[in-house]
Formats: sequence, C-alpha cells, structure tokens
Amino acid sequence: MNKKVISIPAAAVVVLTAPNRQEAARLLGGPLGFARSMTWDVNRPEASKAALKSMLAEGGVVAVDMPPISPKAGIGLAAKTRREVARIAERHGFVPVLLSIDPQSEDLDEESPVRIEAGSSLCVELTPMPHDLTHIECGIDAIGDIHGCADELLDLLMELGHATRGPDGSTTLRRHPEGRRVALVGDLTDRGPRNLDVLRTARRLHDEFGAIVVLGNHDHKLMRWLSGANVRIAAGLQTTIDEMVLVDEQERASHAAWLASLQTHHLLDGGRLAIAHAGISKQHQGRHTKGAQSFALYGATTGELAEDGTPEALDWAQEYAGDACVVHGHVVVPEPRILNDVVNIDTGCVFGGSLTAFRWPEAEFVSVKARRIYHSPTGREITAA
Ligand code: MN
Repeated sequence: MNKKVISIPAAAVVVLTAPNRQEAARLLGGPLGFARSMTWDVNRPEASKAALKSMLAEGGVVAVDMPPISPKAGIGLAAKTRREVARIAERHGFVPVLLSIDPQSEDLDEESPVRIEAGSSLCVELTPMPHDLTHIECGIDAIGDIHGCADELLDLLMELGHATRGPDGSTTLRRHPEGRRVALVGDLTDRGPRNLDVLRTARRLHDEFGAIVVLGNHDHKLMRWLSGANVRIAAGLQTTIDEMVLVDEQERASHAAWLASLQTHHLLDGGRLAIAHAGISKQHQGRHTKGAQSFALYGATTGELAEDGTPEALDWAQEYAGDACVVHGHVVVPEPRILNDVVNIDTGCVFGGSLTAFRWPEAEFVSVKARRIYHSPTGREITAA
C-alpha cells in the first residue's frame, strides 16, 4: 500500500476534494482529523464562509471538506469556490493546501494540489510556518541595506568573523567559529557598484552558511522584473538590470526563484527577535498575511502620498510596544537607531555612509565605512530608500 507523507504548515486550511463521501469520511476521521473541520455547503455559501471564518479565529489547522460540485450547478463553480476558500484563508494568515484524492481531476492542475490515491494511507506532518525560526538561538549578526556595496559587505563579514582574508587580499566566506549566523535585512541590490556580486554572496551565505535573508522592497521589485513583470524602473533598479542582462537566462531564473523563496519577516530566538526589511509591528508579527507582507516591505504609511508619489512613511517605532526586538533597515539614518526595542541599521552605505551590523543578543553595533559615495544622497533618494 502507498503511504504518502504530506507536510502541512501549522496554520493551514486543508481543502479536501474526494471522489466520494466514503473516502472523505475515512480521511476526516483519520489522518485529517484535525480539531476543526467543516463540510462546505455549496447551496449555502454565506453560511459556509461564516463557519470557516469563525474556525480561523481559533488558529491551527482547519479541514474543509469540499463535496463534488456538479457542473450543472454552474460551470466553474467548484474552482471558484476553492479560490474563494483560499482567499479567505490567506486573508486570515493561513496557508491554503488543496488535497485531491481524484487522480482524474485535471481541472485542478492550475491550483497545484497535493494528490493522493484513493484508499492509500496518508500521514500528516505539521511543520512550522515559513516565518517561524524561533528555534534559532545562536548569536545573530543582522546586516542592513547593502545595495550592491560588495566590498563593504566583505569588510563587514571579515570584521564579524564570517570571512577570512588571504595575503592576496581575497576574501573567503567561512562558518563562524562560534556558530553565529548572518541575517540580511534585505535591499541587496540597486544603486551600488556590484549588485550581482552581492546577490551571489547573499545566496552563498544563505545556502551554504545558514544565513537568514528577508526580502526588501528592492529585492521584491527585482524578483518581479526577473519574472518578466512590467515594473517601473526607478530607484537604482537600472544599475542591477545593467549587470543582470549580461548573465545567462538560467542564472537569472535561479535568482528569481531564490528571491521568490524568501520570506518578508522572520521570528528568531524564541520570538525575542524579529527581522524584517522595513520592520514589523506587533500585530503583524508571526502573521502570514498580505498586510504583514506589505508592512515588512514598505513599513507603516500614513495613507497619504509624499511629494515624489511614494506612500508617505510613518515612524511606527515611536509607538512600538511589542515583546520582540525588531531589527530593520529601509529608512536611512546617519547613526543606527534604537527606539522602543526597534533597531534601524540602514546607515546608507551606498550613499557614502556605512554598512552596519547589529549583534544579537549582545545588542552591539559594528559598522564599516563606505569606501566612497556610490550614489548621490539627495533627499528624494533617501526618503525612497
Ligand atoms: Mn533600502
């Protein structure tokens, strides 16, 4: 008999599509017997939505049994209903997981379901949510916005003990002798002299040395450009594109996939430390929602537009009263700032400032000076940083 192990995130909505009621009952009474489950009633969609939302308020994993919907009831109604459930799940910070027991159901392909064969045995393994790195307790060296400043990145990694330098001046990454880890707060590229080198180094730190990397707004935009999206080329993106057009298609695709795999915030060290590019408010910490993602990429905004058309930033740290220390970049400050346990380490290296690390749990700063001014530090550029 086939035994299939499926991994389900700790906050998930598992949508089950089974070819018959017997099979659905077998799974819901067994491996999918989560504390909360419901059967979707296509004739009473509003009541079904309300029932789902009230279950989501309690967290954990919710199973939604989706009985087959006949095409007579409405063409595409089944797919539309599944999409609706997925949207509700995502809005509430849950990961939707579609489980299909019908190998014939090709119409599900676009929704990339987990497929299991009817009658096969299933084993469910609950996994932490993607942002949850609370088990990482070693020392963390969080590094601010790099923006293509490859030399300064290597200087700082040397200073912190994550690299060694040979007599010829070449730098080699290494595992930190005390097991410390690097955490990059994002904005790896744009405006600087060696954007691709920084991206490649960040990937090596992540893949080979266990570094934690969160996505910055510049990385997010680069990812969309690499994926062929029509993005506005501004704020230094052109400098990265100029380098990116010289590498082969395969490498570009792999950068896009890697960036797409990154989270926008992480919780570390038992939840005592949070990292996110523009920071993360208490209410968004540990949440897997669009709101949390937007806050982490762009920070809090007033809802008004600034003179240059970008959303006007709000200094949310003034009001912060969360339990976690939040380390972020995004807004250039002349000196690293700690306010209400919120630490800003974007000291504007690319504008001729410095590249700064925050050492956790020591709460110490280590900075290296920019070797030169790479980009004109006009007011407009700094507010859009
Ligand atoms: Mn930045």
